[in-house]
Amino acid sequence: MAKPMMPSALEIMETLVGFPTVSRDSNLALVDWVEAYLASHGVSARRVYDATGKKAALYANVGPEVEGGVVLSGHTDVVPVDGQDWTVEPFAVTEKDGRYYGRGTCDMKGFDALALAMVPYALERGVSRPLQIALSYDEEVGCIGAPPMIDDMVTHLPRAAAAIIGEPSMLRPVTGHNASTIIDVTVHGFEVHSSKLPQGVSAIHEAGRILNWVNDWNAKLMAETPDPISAAFDPPHTTAHVGMIQGGTAHNITAKDCTFKLGFRCPAGDDVARHETALFAFLKELDADLRGKHPEAGVTWEQNLGVPALRPETDGVAETLIRQLTGDNAPHVVTYGTEAGQFQERGYSAVVCGPGDIAQAHQPDEWIAKDQFHAGEALLRRVVDTLV
Ligand SMILES: [Zn+2]
Repeated sequence: MAKPMMPSALEIMETLVGFPTVSRDSNLALVDWVEAYLASHGVSARRVYDATGKKAALYANVGPEVEGGVVLSGHTDVVPVDGQDWTVEPFAVTEKDGRYYGRGTCDMKGFDALALAMVPYALERGVSRPLQIALSYDEEVGCIGAPPMIDDMVTHLPRAAAAIIGEPSMLRPVTGHNASTIIDVTVHGFEVHSSKLPQGVSAIHEAGRILNWVNDWNAKLMAETPDPISAAFDPPHTTAHVGMIQGGTAHNITAKDCTFKLGFRCPAGDDVARHETALFAFLKELDADLRGKHPEAGVTWEQNLGVPALRPETDGVAETLIRQLTGDNAPHVVTYGTEAGQFQERGYSAVVCGPGDIAQAHQPDEWIAKDQFHAGEALLRRVVDTLV
């Protein structure tokens, strides 16, 4: 066994931030480093590769192979820095004004570093239940990497009693978050010179009917009385949203195509499926209508993999653990998605709790407050102490 690597939590964060693991690029250099670090402590890790073999999730069991441990879960990928106005080097940690700057310091290599720093601590304390480390990829592009990793963990590791997903929450226990889903819609029209409008089908005009549906649907949902779980969310109801749209080639040609992404964000008490069912029924009707106007016209759509909600648990082990350690018993739910819902969907008690403020995530000059980072370290030590 190699000599144990004993970097501080800050030094680990510096190393991790130094790997420019933007979601579109490979994360294997980072994974290699983490694997070597774990191996130097006698801990073996398992990799779960994506289809291209250029990215991998990595997880490890630290301590005895028994049930009842705690998973510390983070993602290794970061959002791009392209087009952002950075005043510090993004892929390095710069310390100033009581903050650590750098891409991923907040979201979420800071937490990854803290989790890894707990490995020698857990071994030194001689935990009787394991600390499990789980690092995914492709979180920032739709939480794609975690499901195969968690499925592999379920197969190969003794089941942990709790999973802590360290997304920035200012170390508050977040027990619920939205589900989200994105649908790629293409409206197919029939091109004519716009002076012959009645003979053509404008994909843009027809897409407008779908946008009207979105507006009407949102108005209908806003008028509904929220269920008790969703009532804690802001907004307390599902929203439908189109964030980008493309179509047409010239002002005087009826558009042949119009494509857009339609997303639903759904608080934990609601069910994404009911919104999708309503949308798909409308799209089917529109499709039939357009085909009646011209055989080349119509609507097609593709459903992307959604991110499940984190549903508040009744007496959840993960929530109870963090509430006991932080003394924070207030309700906290968020409207962004995380991998916590994917852990929960696979039978783990899950909570979101990590240092830093989500407001700094994805920003130019991303930072985490030094006191948050070090308070996070202290909290994770107490988590490990409960495993002794
Ligand atoms: Zn994140």
